[in-house]
Formats: sequence, C-alpha cells, structure tokens
Amino acid sequence: MKNKCVYPGSFDPPTFGHLDIIGRASVIFDEVHVAVLNNTSKKRMFSLEDRIAVLDAETKVFGNITVHSFDGLLVDFMKKTGIDVVVRGVRNNTDLDIEDQMANTNKILKPDMETVLLIANPKLNHLSSSIIKELIRLRADVGSFVPKSVLQMIKRRK
Ligand code: ADP
Repeated sequence: MKNKCVYPGSFDPPTFGHLDIIGRASVIFDEVHVAVLNNTSKKRMFSLEDRIAVLDAETKVFGNITVHSFDGLLVDFMKKTGIDVVVRGVRNNTDLDIEDQMANTNKILKPDMETVLLIANPKLNHLSSSIIKELIRLRADVGSFVPKSVLQMIKRRK
C-alpha cells in the first residue's frame, strides 16, 4: 500500500516555507497531496487557479506531488480521497497551539487519521503568507520569500 499524506492550506501565496515542507514530505511519503483551500467566504489576494498553477509548477521537480483544491472540511476531503495522514508545518509556539487544537478536533471527526507536524526550517520560519501579502500591498520586493512564479502572479494582478 502507498504511504500518502495531504498537506492542506490556503497558500495565498505559496512561499519558500511551504515548498520546503512539501519537499521534505515528498521524501517521507510515496505521494503528497497538496490541498488548496477554496474558502469562498474569505477574501483571498490570489485566485484558486493561480495558487494551484504556482504549486503545480514549483513542485513538479519532486515527482510525487499532486495539487488539488478542496472546500469545507479537511476530514471530508480525506474521507473522499482515502488519505489518513495530514502534514502541517510548525514555525513557533503559536503554530503549535493551533495545530494541537486542530489535530485533536480532526481526530474526533475522523479517529483513524494522524497529524504529522514538521518543524519549520530555521532559515524559513519567519515566512508567512499574511506578512508577504502586507509587503505586496506596500509594494515591497518579496523576491527573497516566494518563487519567481509568484512574482509573475503579482505582476499580473497590477
Ligand atoms: P493556513 O492558511 O491554514 O494558516 P497556510 O497556507 O499559511 O495555512 O500554511 C499551510 C501550512 O504550512 C500550515 O501548517 C502552516 O503552519 C505551514 N507553513 C506556513 N508557512 C510556513 C513556513 N514558513 N515554514 C513552515 N511551514 C509553514
């Protein structure tokens, strides 16, 4: 049986921190399924299609990544796809508190699932999509934080 995991998030936009987690998960698991949240009630800076296109392009190199979109509950996506392991990245204590709460809630909803937390790369643990969005709004150069395909996506928005 193949060892599969899902890596869910908003990825608005994808950063080098997300790509680091995906690359590391791709070594641990046979298949990594990146699940991009399409939450229509939340305002996003980048469209679902653009976020998926960037993640597709930037993760091809790993060879075992599939990028999906999902709506609603993560556990419903996991039930539908038959994946029992979720991977998340932890940058600091705040992330850990949130992930602890989410992992335990998800386990009540789907008792056979497990959450695997990967400790963020110390060179990338300052990166967050929300700070990058703020920098983009202020027209700062975000080239050290996101791949070139995101820079192109930013140019297209202007
Ligand atoms: P959400 O919108 O659910 O907060 P994100 O799309 O920002 O999620 O991130 C998805 C996952 O990636 C989360 O587990 C988050 O903690 C993790 N993550 C975000 N940025 C980094 C980073 N710089 N290094 C490692 N993990 C990260």
